[in-house]
Amino acid sequence: MSKLDVVEIWKELHRMPEPGMNEFKTGEFLADALEKLGYEVTRGVGKTGVVGVVRGKEPGPVVMLRADMDALPFKNEDGSIEYVHACGHDSHSAMVLTAAAELVDKVKKGTLKILFQPAEETLEGALAVMKDGVIDDVDIALGLHVRPVQDIPAGTCCAAVRHSASTFLCVEIEGKSAHAARPHLGVNCAEAAALITNAICAIKMNPALTWSCKVTSISAVSSASNIIPDRGELVLDVRAQTNELMDELLEKVRRAIEGAASSIGAKAIIKFPGGVIPAAIYDEDLVAEVAQTIKEELGADKLAPDCGGGGEDFHYFKQAKPNMKAAYFGLGAGCTPGLHARNMTFDTAQLSKGVKVLVAMALKKLG
Ligand SMILES: [Zn+2]
Ligand SMILES: [Zn+2]
Repeated sequence: MSKLDVVEIWKELHRMPEPGMNEFKTGEFLADALEKLGYEVTRGVGKTGVVGVVRGKEPGPVVMLRADMDALPFKNEDGSIEYVHACGHDSHSAMVLTAAAELVDKVKKGTLKILFQPAEETLEGALAVMKDGVIDDVDIALGLHVRPVQDIPAGTCCAAVRHSASTFLCVEIEGKSAHAARPHLGVNCAEAAALITNAICAIKMNPALTWSCKVTSISAVSSASNIIPDRGELVLDVRAQTNELMDELLEKVRRAIEGAASSIGAKAIIKFPGGVIPAAIYDEDLVAEVAQTIKEELGADKLAPDCGGGGEDFHYFKQAKPNMKAAYFGLGAGCTPGLHARNMTFDTAQLSKGVKVLVAMALKKLG
């Protein structure tokens, strides 16, 4: 019998959606709950993250169960921003907390480390908690994500979510202001932004591999209709199946941006505020163990094929510490119409399955 009700925890967290690096209420709620369970708790890890630790009496590995906590911003009609748990991070925290409750007095060897990580969506969180030393002692890291209906059927789990490498670029364009009646004396940033967008759309990569690059925000605002805008800004989202493909794609993206801007005399400055998150690199023996655990806990018919796409800053951990074992499974929760949709809903009855897999995997290493 579980000590905590995962759906009740999820409801609590769902009521307090907070932006990345501002998960103050969420972090406090989770830290309090861990403390009540008997965990040694550290708050403020990587600003708003929470770490809970429980040690067994015998020596053994350090196993980290990781959940993210942040919500996504959506614009209201009046221009104000509202945060919504549209990626299900509230459900991840609820599942990991419920697993922590079940595991607290069952850890015989090694150490169980619970990590509630901030700011996954902005790609800052994993890097921030790593700076505070979170993974220094970790031997095995395990994460999970609810999956949409497009990926795997509700009620099934896949042993590995094969995330792509992913990044976003902010491009500042510098032009030259002029009277709109004398456009030849200026450099129009609205036109530069359009040229860059077209150049990005013309990029081609090997069609046998998955990749994409697209403009997700574009602005070049003039103070008047008859003044040539001298400033512009673009945001691009770029993804690739492998880290090598990402290097190749980013080189083409850079050439497209700089070439298109310079073709009319504008200057483009490219920044990567969240870095480039690596594609998933897993330890296949650990993934096989997760697959076996899914079959044992949920039934052989509940093991779905691996799904892919998306990006995850979880993979910064393995990149920074290659000898740490990492796995990250997917829980088919019937998320619809899809992740990152403002009206995303899912079947909360599936959450107990994620808890079961987390608990069973941790006990195989620590029990
Ligand atoms: Zn997301
Ligand atoms: Zn997510």
